Amino acid sequence: MNFEWTPEQRALRERVRALLARELPPDWEHISRHGPGSPAQTAFSLAFCPKLAAEGLLVPHWPAAHGGRDAPAWEHFIIGEELFAAGEPRGPQYMNANFIGATLMKFGTPQQQARYLPDMAAGRAVWCQGFSEPSAGSDLAALATRAMPRGEEYVINGSKVWTSYAGMAQTCFLLARTDAGKGGIAIFLVPMDTPGITVRPIPSLIGHGDIHEVFFDDVVVPAAARLGEEGQAWAIIGYALSLERVGLARYAFSRRVLDRMVGELTAQDRFADSAVRAQAAQALAACEAARLLVYRVVDERARGLPPSAVSNLARVAVVKADHAVSDFALAHFGDALCGDRWPLVLAHHERAIAAGIASGAAEIQLNLVANDWLQLPRESRLERS
Ligand SMILES: Cc1cc2nc3c(=O)[nH]c(=O)nc-3n(C[C@H](O)[C@H](O)[C@H](O)COP(=O)(O)OP(=O)(O)OC[C@H]3O[C@@H](n4cnc5c(N)ncnc54)[C@H](O)[C@@H]3O)c2cc1C
Repeated sequence: MNFEWTPEQRALRERVRALLARELPPDWEHISRHGPGSPAQTAFSLAFCPKLAAEGLLVPHWPAAHGGRDAPAWEHFIIGEELFAAGEPRGPQYMNANFIGATLMKFGTPQQQARYLPDMAAGRAVWCQGFSEPSAGSDLAALATRAMPRGEEYVINGSKVWTSYAGMAQTCFLLARTDAGKGGIAIFLVPMDTPGITVRPIPSLIGHGDIHEVFFDDVVVPAAARLGEEGQAWAIIGYALSLERVGLARYAFSRRVLDRMVGELTAQDRFADSAVRAQAAQALAACEAARLLVYRVVDERARGLPPSAVSNLARVAVVKADHAVSDFALAHFGDALCGDRWPLVLAHHERAIAAGIASGAAEIQLNLVANDWLQLPRESRLERS
């Protein structure tokens, strides 16, 4: 493995930075402070992503037939790293570029692809992900939302919770049960303006309008809204989540915030203290560990290898980096967490609180590492003796 950037990759990075310098407004850090699903950031993404698309930088890794330009996986990743470090101006549309589009390309019908992919590639599609329910988070197999077949359609009843971006989404990537048991789950692509859908925002630390409850009352969708076959949900989710887990270059944002804090502490003559320097070094090491583990995953993907447990390890490392930088902020930059002067540090700190639970709990990733990577026995010594 060689992680030197080629001259073309360096030039791409510079191009993205130049575009960001040109397109982000002076108050961008205040806009991005409210989270990717906030009305302000979602609205900004609908203006910004078409510009990225026009430059060939939104979905470069997609096939040309779907609006991409067949670029290598690394190209998409470098762009994502730069955008994430800048506070993710794609807003919720990062999901389309990272995993929803690829999942539709692999499992969708030609009609579904023709309906949804062009808007994603053009930068004007906002999706939400309806997986979690009040009694089904880590244990997704316990989900209770029903999709009852009725002739050539399904009738959906149930509710979802913690659904990011639902308030402004046009379409939901929805998990619902067509039959009993773990195998009885299917995925539906549901327009959010379908009668019977109610969205209620949940006030939260990470920003107003970011997470929601979504209720489905006798929502009727055609059978053609089902992605893949009934019972195929786990294969599809496994594929989608393996892309999503490392799609977020959150360590790049953590690193930027850490650099910002170190710069300010240096300016205040507070960075000479060896305890402060040691904690900064630990946070920096955590960001670097996350970056290199994520690079391994991208390398595997670029070489066409199947998803492996490295993606679970990488995700845990990203959470640890978030927490290390957030702890540094709390210990040495406390003023930044009150008031409006350091929106970037505050945004990072609030999001780090949700890290390790949003997009799947870190403990579940560790379970997967224990089972799939280390092949540890499932039963305890106590149970065996
Ligand atoms: C900011 C934010 C945004 C989110 N966005 C979305 C979204 O867009 N769409 C969506 O569907 N969901 C979303 N979620 C929900 C998220 O995926 C769930 O919160 C997560 O899967 C955990 O589920 P839970 O909340 O039910 O917690 P639980 O599953 O009840 O877990 C509670 C605690 O128990 C631990 N735990 C549970 N089971 C095990 C086990 N087997 N071994 C060890 N420890 C375990 C967990 O690690 C956790 O610490 C979001 C959550 C947050 C915080």
